[in-house]
Amino acid sequence: MTQAPDVHQAEPIPAAAREAIEALLQSGDLFRYTAPQDAPVALLESEFAELLGAKYALAVSSCSAALFLSLKALGLPRDARVLIPGFTFAAVPSSVIHADCVPVLCEVGDNYRIDMADFEARIDDNISAVIISHMRGHTSDMDAIMALCDARNIPVIEDAAHSLGTTWHGRNIGTIGKIGCFSFQSYKMINAGEGGILISDDADAVARAVIMSGAYEHNWKKHKVPMGDNIRDLEEAFGRWQNQLPLYNLRMGNLSAAVIRPQLPELARRVTDGRKGHDYVADRLNSAANFNVPAKLAAEVRAPDSIQFNLVDLSDDEIDAFAAAAAARGVKVQIFGRSTDNARAFWNWQFLGDMPELPKTRAMLMRACDVRLPVHLSREDYDAVADILLDAMNEVTRSAAA
Ligand SMILES: *Cc1c(COP(=O)(O)O)cnc(C)c1O
Repeated sequence: MTQAPDVHQAEPIPAAAREAIEALLQSGDLFRYTAPQDAPVALLESEFAELLGAKYALAVSSCSAALFLSLKALGLPRDARVLIPGFTFAAVPSSVIHADCVPVLCEVGDNYRIDMADFEARIDDNISAVIISHMRGHTSDMDAIMALCDARNIPVIEDAAHSLGTTWHGRNIGTIGKIGCFSFQSYKMINAGEGGILISDDADAVARAVIMSGAYEHNWKKHKVPMGDNIRDLEEAFGRWQNQLPLYNLRMGNLSAAVIRPQLPELARRVTDGRKGHDYVADRLNSAANFNVPAKLAAEVRAPDSIQFNLVDLSDDEIDAFAAAAAARGVKVQIFGRSTDNARAFWNWQFLGDMPELPKTRAMLMRACDVRLPVHLSREDYDAVADILLDAMNEVTRSAAA
C-alpha cells in the first residue's frame, strides 16, 4: 500500500538561527526596544519591507494582531462596516469585532475567490473598509476590487497570511491594498510558531499601528526603514500621533525575529517548490473524474503549500465516504463545511450573532476539500498523496456502481 507522507512535519529552521538565538540567550536581550538600535525585530522589519517592495513594515505577535491594528490604524469609527469574504479564517471576522467594527460578509465562488458580482452589489457608501482574504493563497480579482474601492475611496486591507510569495501582475500580494498582513504561524510559508507582520507605504497608518502595537514613549525611534528618505515622513507622522493613541502591546520579541530572519532567503525556493508540487498534484487530480482543481486567475502566480479541490457529481454520502477512504490510507482530507467546528465555515462564526445566509459560499464549502502539501515534499510524496486520493475516489465510485 502507498505510504502517505507526514504533512505536518515542518522544514528545519536554518542553522543560522541557532547562532542568533544563542547570542540572545547569552545577553538576555529579548525585548525589541532594549537595544538602542538594530534589534532583530527592527532588522526583520527593514528586510521584510525591502523583500516585498514596501516602504514600511511592523512585526507583531500574529497576523490576527496585524489585521486588528490595520483596522485601528485606519481610524474607523465605532460600528463602521467592514466588508470581508464569507470564506476566510475566523480570525478575520474576529479582528473586525475586536476593532469595534461590524463585519459584512460577501459571497465567495467555487474557485475560492470573491464573487465579484456580490462584492459589487454590497460595496456601497456605508462600507468604511474592505479586508480581502486571499484564502489558502487564492488571489481574488485585485484589479476589479481596487477599481471599485478606489472609486469610493474605501481603504483595502489584504489578509495575505497564506499568500507570502504570491504575485499579481508581477507585484507582491500584500502591496496592492493600503496595508498587507502576513502570518508566521507554523502552517504558513515562514514558520516562527507564532508571529505576524504588516506592510504599507502609508506613513500615517504605519505610525499609528506602530504606536498602538506598543511603541510607548519614544520607542518608535528604534524603528528602521529600508530606504532612508522614507524615515522623514514616518517621523513626522509619529510626531502627530505621539501620546494620542492607546497601547495594545502586540509586539514581536527578538527570539521570534531570530527564527524568521534566516528563513527570508529561503522564501523564493519554498515558493517555487510548493508551486511545482501543487501543480503536479493538481494535474493528476484534474485528469480524473469527480475532481476539480479550479484554475488560477491569469494575473496570478501562486505560492501554495496546500491544495484545494471540489468534488463533483458526488452525493453527500459519497463525499463522506471519500474522506473516510482517504483517511484510512493516511491522507487527511478536510471538507470545509462538513464538520461542526470548522473555523473557515461562516455559520460557525456564531460570535457574530445574526448570521446572513451566503448560498453560493455554503454550496462551495460543502464540496471543497483541503489537503496539506508542505513545500518540502519529494516527487514520490506528491505521487503518494495523488495516488491515495485517486484510489479513495475509485473505491467510492466503484462501490456506487456495483
Ligand atoms: C493563518 C491565517 C490567519 C491568522 O494568522 P495568525 O498569525 O495565526 O493570527 C488569518 N487569515 C488567513 C487567511 C490565514 O491563513
